[in-house]
Amino acid sequence: MAAVSLAVLAASLVLIVGVLHGYFQDQVLEELRQKTVYTARGVEQAGMDYLTGDLPRDSRVTWVAADGTVLFDNWEDPANMASHADRAEIREALLTGKGSSARYSDTLAEKTLYYALRLSDGSVLRMSDTQDAVWLLVLEAVQPVAFVLLAALALALWLSGRVAWQLVAPINAMDLEDPEGEPPYEELALLLGRIRSQNRQIQHQMLDLQRRQEEFGAITENMSEGLLVIDRETRVLSYNTAALRLLRADKPQAGESAYALNREAGFRRCVEGALSGQRTEQLLEREGSCRQVIASPVQQEGAVGGAVLVVLDVTEKEQREQLRREFTANVSHELKTPLTSILGTAEILENGLVQPGDIPHFAGNIHREAQRLIGLVNDIIKLSRLDEGESGGQWETVELHALAENVLAQLRQAAETKQVTLHLEGGKALARGVPQILEEILYNLCDNAVAYNRPGGSVTVTVEETDRGARVAVADTGIGIPPEARERVFERFYRLDKSHSGTGTGLGLSIVKHGAAYLGAKLSLESQVGVGSTFTVEFPKV
Ligand code: ADP
Repeated sequence: MAAVSLAVLAASLVLIVGVLHGYFQDQVLEELRQKTVYTARGVEQAGMDYLTGDLPRDSRVTWVAADGTVLFDNWEDPANMASHADRAEIREALLTGKGSSARYSDTLAEKTLYYALRLSDGSVLRMSDTQDAVWLLVLEAVQPVAFVLLAALALALWLSGRVAWQLVAPINAMDLEDPEGEPPYEELALLLGRIRSQNRQIQHQMLDLQRRQEEFGAITENMSEGLLVIDRETRVLSYNTAALRLLRADKPQAGESAYALNREAGFRRCVEGALSGQRTEQLLEREGSCRQVIASPVQQEGAVGGAVLVVLDVTEKEQREQLRREFTANVSHELKTPLTSILGTAEILENGLVQPGDIPHFAGNIHREAQRLIGLVNDIIKLSRLDEGESGGQWETVELHALAENVLAQLRQAAETKQVTLHLEGGKALARGVPQILEEILYNLCDNAVAYNRPGGSVTVTVEETDRGARVAVADTGIGIPPEARERVFERFYRLDKSHSGTGTGLGLSIVKHGAAYLGAKLSLESQVGVGSTFTVEFPKV
């Protein structure tokens, strides 16, 4: 609006100036004509005297003879002036009696108006005025007009500003977050409609995003594996509680580096590896726990944009691995000892180095060692079956007092040899289980009670039925087990004192432990070194 009014004002100013200029030019020309007529009369009457008299100097007066020679000029010396016969106004005046013309000066800077009149003697009187005069008049006339126009322009500016403000104010006052209700102008209805539908869309997307984030959070929070997402600068972007627990880290600050979570060298190697584009795995071992970190790079537009780290607790797996390695080593060793003995004895027999009378002794050796081997292999098979969770027998209800009696009968011979007396106390008690495993448990406990006893000692088996179920206690008066070994005696191949071990495989108590666990029974041990040990098995109520 301001620009339009400015353009209109400028155009009218130009127009006014043009019109005024034309008008004033005519006016000036008319004045010039009158002045020329007036002067011509003077010259007609007084000749040169009139011209040399007291003439007003603002207009130029030139008197030219009929042949063009300049007779007089009030601005220049006529002697220096060339013939004026060729001037348009003079030629015209010579022909018609009067002539006028307008010419620009050489520099085009100013315009001169000429008026010429033929005098009665044939000479021509010419007067001229410069255009300056016209412009002076125009400027004078235009001044008030320009003032009015400027005032109009200021008014236009003020009005357009005010109108613009009035238009915009209700739009500014609109709440675009909640653009319900009528728009301030009908023209805005379409825009408001669009904003409304966009707002709805954004709201839906936000809810969707929030739901997905919650889902992701719920999934990762319930994972036992640690999850950590980092960016290219190792800043933590996302993590779950398991990650903090496994890395033994505190909650990271916003934008904190992953290196602040864990200072172990393996962890750093993982992060560096993944950020250089390599999937990296490391084991972190500390204070008996073992964690595996797997770091994978995240590719973004062909470059590594960050990494995802998964932290697993592999302590148990590592321990199992360790046990398996130890077990394999132990089995090989245990198998080798009797086999070497058998091999040696067989060689001696083969080479005929043995007296016929000694053959039964050597054959007995082979027999005993082979027996030991079979016992060992059987024990390994039993253990591995229990490990696999299969027993190889049916579940039955077994009367434990009778079973104990049977087991003790099997050990009578050995007990006598060791000068150990066997006692069975208590009464009938029922337990549910696989008979072979029940017998195995009782046999191994009683066998140990005899084996690790002292001459003259005793073994007492007590079978009882309690409120919670059947209970069997095997008590001996033997060498006892020191406190630090009470857990370890149940480990495979663990032997407290190798010299005392005799024919034992080192697997007996392992079979007891796994057997009891298989049957759901509780196993406990009380012992005092030099006094004796009591192993108790409590079975669930039938
Ligand atoms: P082994 O075949 O050597 O008897 P076990 O697993 O039955 O293997 O026992 C492991 C170890 O526990 C034995 O070598 C022994 O040192 C110790 N032990 C087991 N029972 C007794 C007990 N009643 N008194 C003292 N020490 C025992």
